[in-house]
Amino acid sequence: MRNFHIILLLVSLTLGSCTPSNIETDDNSSKYNNDPFVKPAVITPLTLPDAWPTNIGRNPLNRSPATTRTKLVTLGTGMPSPNPYRAGPSHLLIVNDQPYLIDAGEGIWRSIAKAALINGDVLTPGLSPEKLNYLFLTHLHQDHTVGIPSLLLNPLNWIFRIQQEIYGPQGTEAMVKHIFSAWKIDIDAAISDGHDPAGGRATGHDILFAEDGLVYRDDNVRVEAFRTRHASLRDTFAYRFTSKDRIVVFSGDGGPYHANIVRAAKDADVLVTETVTEENIQYAPWGGNTVEEKKKEIFRFHFSPGVLARIANEANVRAIVLAHEQNYNSGEDYQATALMEEVRAAGFKGEIYSAMDGDIY
Ligand SMILES: [Zn+2]
Ligand SMILES: [Zn+2]
Repeated sequence: MRNFHIILLLVSLTLGSCTPSNIETDDNSSKYNNDPFVKPAVITPLTLPDAWPTNIGRNPLNRSPATTRTKLVTLGTGMPSPNPYRAGPSHLLIVNDQPYLIDAGEGIWRSIAKAALINGDVLTPGLSPEKLNYLFLTHLHQDHTVGIPSLLLNPLNWIFRIQQEIYGPQGTEAMVKHIFSAWKIDIDAAISDGHDPAGGRATGHDILFAEDGLVYRDDNVRVEAFRTRHASLRDTFAYRFTSKDRIVVFSGDGGPYHANIVRAAKDADVLVTETVTEENIQYAPWGGNTVEEKKKEIFRFHFSPGVLARIANEANVRAIVLAHEQNYNSGEDYQATALMEEVRAAGFKGEIYSAMDGDIY
């Protein structure tokens, strides 16, 4: 019996050493587990902190209120950098089991499948692919749109195709038409191989409001667009979704302070947004050589923690969900939750979360 005890002890020690000690546990935590991570010795564009794993020692969580019929799923929380653990920017709002997509980054179908697999019981009724009929684009940067061809064309290989209504800045309608032209050979082949030529249509809708207006409404949601500013793009939007029980706002990519983001996010339950470290901006691999140059250039494209805190406080936002984070630092001093701390230190008093792919809020 004594030997048996030793064997059991060895087994438990071995199992214990396989489990990362910093995994956050929670009753709502899924079984999905992030791979352990070894910091690379050589930093290249593929091994920058931006491309590291989730850097949060936890599994995806369901943090949405149990009673709400409006669920935010952070499908893709990555940047353009090819982080294998974070897909390109995409979110899903599910209201009364009807899904609405916001942005379509790289890996969109895989992100949707991942969310369905790790949150199946909660999300399955709202994640039936033929229900994915609405997509709202915050702006036409490639990292937010490169998933559209996949969204529209991947179902060619399935039994059905999808009818999509795609709303976005000027150029959306042309982009959708060009996608179908670019993949004409594949589409024609699929139809000649017996796929339904009547399915799989998508229509792009250019939003032409001067400042803001109603883009879409149905029995579940009212969607308003607010013009914003993001680097040199002339046309970018924040979206405000109002359902019967929640207001969820998607800022899109940021930039300098803009009163329209405050208007879009007024009294929101959740603001899905982004920020870049100011404290450690010297480690950003772009934007110039000095800290001053980097701040000037990077904060044309993104919210500084101070600007984000100001916007969220002025708008009386209840909770910020950070995605698309640029949390630079040296490899040695990297802190996974540093951006949340920077936004809090800048004066934001509400709840703040650092999202990962597959979370529900
Ligand atoms: Zn952008
Ligand atoms: Zn972006």
